[in-house]
Amino acid sequence: MEKYILSLDQGTTSSRAIVFDQKGSIRAVAQQEFRQIYPQDGWVEHDANEIWESQKTVMLDVLEKAGISSSSIAAVGITNQRETIVVWNRQTGEPLTNAIVWQDRRTAGDCDELRKQGLEPRITEKTGLRLDPYFSGTKLRWLLKNCEGALDAAAKGELAFGTMDTWLLWKLTHGKVHKTDVTNASRTLLLNIHTGQWDEELLEMLEIPESMLPEVCSSSEVFGQVDASILGEEIPIAGIAGDQQAALFGQACFEQGMAKNTYGTGCFLLMNTGNKPVVSKNNLLTTIAWKIGDETVYALEGSVFIAGAVIQWIRDELKMIESASEIDELAAEVEDNGGLYLVPAFAGLGAPYWDPYARGLLVGITRGSTKAHMARAALESIGFQSADLIECMEKDSGVSLSELRVDGGATKSDLLMQFQADLLGTKVLRPQVTETTALGAAYLAGLAVGYWENQAQIAQQWQTEKVFESKDRTDKIGTLKRRWKKAVGLSRGWLDAE
Ligand code: ADP
Repeated sequence: MEKYILSLDQGTTSSRAIVFDQKGSIRAVAQQEFRQIYPQDGWVEHDANEIWESQKTVMLDVLEKAGISSSSIAAVGITNQRETIVVWNRQTGEPLTNAIVWQDRRTAGDCDELRKQGLEPRITEKTGLRLDPYFSGTKLRWLLKNCEGALDAAAKGELAFGTMDTWLLWKLTHGKVHKTDVTNASRTLLLNIHTGQWDEELLEMLEIPESMLPEVCSSSEVFGQVDASILGEEIPIAGIAGDQQAALFGQACFEQGMAKNTYGTGCFLLMNTGNKPVVSKNNLLTTIAWKIGDETVYALEGSVFIAGAVIQWIRDELKMIESASEIDELAAEVEDNGGLYLVPAFAGLGAPYWDPYARGLLVGITRGSTKAHMARAALESIGFQSADLIECMEKDSGVSLSELRVDGGATKSDLLMQFQADLLGTKVLRPQVTETTALGAAYLAGLAVGYWENQAQIAQQWQTEKVFESKDRTDKIGTLKRRWKKAVGLSRGWLDAE
């Protein structure tokens, strides 16, 4: 009987389940959205029970769609939205509050306060992260302080903490297993990425009792069994990784210096830096890419806030196109950007500029500027921002990129992919399976149960759908880069600092 891997992809807006076969090809996909809860300005929550219900539903749906029974599932892998937290009662399994989502900014003031106490350098040294509300640690601290009785209950060992992987694992095993993997743990501000363990000093700084934390495991091992009441029989849960790390794995970026960029609403760039964590001098994050057996692999990570979102803006606000797929056609009406540069600093600028006061800018307009130039400038802005991050990664790691593997919705734009290759002077590779996040979790699970033999076999399976060679090595690229930097400079500090 042919066997498959079931991958659970617990995202920010939906839960998905995908069945992969041994070639790493997709057999079926099921997806269900869940509610986004905005109780106050800057707060974002999810109902953890609703997430579990949706994840269970799509798990059953996908087996039906694939026309297979649970007995042909060799293992289950989990990948998830990172940093989002939930705390529940160990006895009842009921969450204390809604899950606090990675986008939630309620702890901005707490982060400022901790920064004033001079704690950030030490936290960064140990975690590779910044003191920012984005990460789990201050969210957990907030919950314990603001939810009545939580501190007491936590001290008595009655509460369990988890990121979404841990929550799903708990539910899938009917409360038998309380574990996480190192990649998820490395986003909490509580894990020392050098030792791969929860760190006493960090726990003390953030006032978190260790008793509520899950056991930290590697990314590829049997964490527990899916309870027989769920799928009819026990199935091993054998792989877990946060979404961006899973995508790096799904792109088979196994060698030091290999990188992937996900072009979604924003961009997420991760570069494999091998067995040593590289400390960034350019405000990138250092994170654990995965751990298999005793070997920990690290990555540098950078993100662009507004990437595909700039195309949505052109579609929804400027109404220049009806669907995102029309952007290439419009941009192809002209040969180049006609001197037009768009800096989409709609919400300030991230790495390497880190300027919350920057705002969007369109510069270089002449009488001859057209919508088509604008479309081109928009696509190019995604490429420029990604190239800025790669420049930082190359400086930090001392490795120059030989190719870039890509995924995400905006990689449908051939024009953008070709521009990216030209700008970087390296090949851009678009793979056949673009569900790289779910695929990465499937690979991690499959490796642990011997469904795939080793990483070399996976690397061989990885196939390109299209290769974009870097063609334009003329002065034009130099001019483009120079003008882009100039345009970024003009966008900076636009708002008055408070
Ligand atoms: P997310 O996971 O962040 O929701 P996706 O990977 O689904 O993102 O990608 C969605 C983004 O891709 C949108 O911002 C959209 O503007 C962009 N996009 C979709 N199709 C195209 C296209 N053909 N050309 C350029 N951008 C596109």
